Amino acid sequence: MNTPLTVAPLAASLIVENFAVSPKGLVLGGVAVADLAARFGTPLYAYDAGLLRKRFRALSSALEGFAEVYYSIKANPNPAIAGVLVEEGAGLEIASGAEFLLARSAGCVAKRILFAGPGKGEAEIDLVLREGIGEVHLEGFDEIAMVAARAATLGLKARVSLRINPGSQAQGGAMRMGGKPSAFGIDEEQMAEAVAAVKAQPSLDLAGIHLFAGTQILDAAVLLDQWRCGLDLASRLAALAGVPLRSIDLGGGLGIPYHAGDATLDLAVIRAGLPALKAQLAADPLLKDAHVLVEPGRWLAGPVGLYIGRVRAVKISRCQRFVVIDGGMHHHLAASGNLGQVIKRDYPIIAPSHLDQPVTGETHLVGPLCTPLDTLGRQTALPDLQAGDLVAVMQSGAYGLSASPVSFLSHPMPAEVLVEAGEVRVIRPAGSYEAPLVNALNAMPRWAQAAE
Ligand SMILES: *Cc1c(COP(=O)(O)O)cnc(C)c1O
Repeated sequence: MNTPLTVAPLAASLIVENFAVSPKGLVLGGVAVADLAARFGTPLYAYDAGLLRKRFRALSSALEGFAEVYYSIKANPNPAIAGVLVEEGAGLEIASGAEFLLARSAGCVAKRILFAGPGKGEAEIDLVLREGIGEVHLEGFDEIAMVAARAATLGLKARVSLRINPGSQAQGGAMRMGGKPSAFGIDEEQMAEAVAAVKAQPSLDLAGIHLFAGTQILDAAVLLDQWRCGLDLASRLAALAGVPLRSIDLGGGLGIPYHAGDATLDLAVIRAGLPALKAQLAADPLLKDAHVLVEPGRWLAGPVGLYIGRVRAVKISRCQRFVVIDGGMHHHLAASGNLGQVIKRDYPIIAPSHLDQPVTGETHLVGPLCTPLDTLGRQTALPDLQAGDLVAVMQSGAYGLSASPVSFLSHPMPAEVLVEAGEVRVIRPAGSYEAPLVNALNAMPRWAQAAE
């Protein structure tokens, strides 16, 4: 990189870590973003498969000898994204019957798929049990009874884990999910009852425990502490069950930086904390042979994606500069701050073809929707842009398109492209609402019938 970047510090460090810069500006996976935008149109989601592999390998290597990495497919359900991770050796965590189909069409064998989620339907359970899913995570007493009944009807023994909603200790995520009333999992206080309920069902095979206490955790010490509490709970569950556990799922929740001042999760700190956790496992005869896994979504997929839009208009209203682009919250709700965030803060946003031009930190970046919710940047540092220039939202590979109200205001769907070492693959054509899922269903008519 010859020219100094004028972008904000977080964006600059992400560019240095994950991207390259050429005379054409930002380069993703060996292709200039300007060329991607010209070739595939805007708005556009672009993902770097090489970076995705690199992240999977870094995490797997940090956790080596302790836990295996599954990918939580809801973070980005495009089967081409999941497929890269499956190629690398990941299992997949799903939360719907259709995600099971996507996982299978991504090349994942049924045994390497786990099913979580608080309101599973009978048809979904029939589908995944018939197809030989690895494990179903039970989240409540009605679900224990329902899955047992469906397995009995199908003449199968379903391998299950109990999802436990931990008490107040295992805490720390920005969006806390443990220690308070929750729709997810069974309260720690009811663990004995739940173990008894599963053991009373001959069609259920209790294999382990599933915990997921928080999301967007940036502090490795907090994560390690949650895992330690998770192993404590696993010991207690195994003692109640009176059998060795075969699986311990410690959940996802590994965070990535989105805003100025956010830390980067330190894998070296995680690695350094693992000997203590391994000793904890080894010390319990009922845990020592358990297969431990984590199931992140955001950490794996988030940094690999850009959401790219083109400026349609620039206007000044009462001294405030507004840059209006052709994409917005309908494709990227999270970046608009409307996906459950309490405080609306900007994602890292850059002008990928103007990385060395002076910026002012006063731009409001808005989309084309007729609602003030459609704001992607509030006091964003951007150069002096004109209609036709490009803007890119970084950290957009997870909870982007599939977590957005794509029908709102009836703008077409953006294309999604997957780039690796200079090669570009269209993994969703522009304008196509359901392409990956429909393709998955068409490729597997037998499953499509079972899902009805
Ligand atoms: C959403 C989800 C994940 C992934 O969460 P991230 O914060 O993206 O890592 C993992 N497990 C379950 C059960 C989930 O619902």
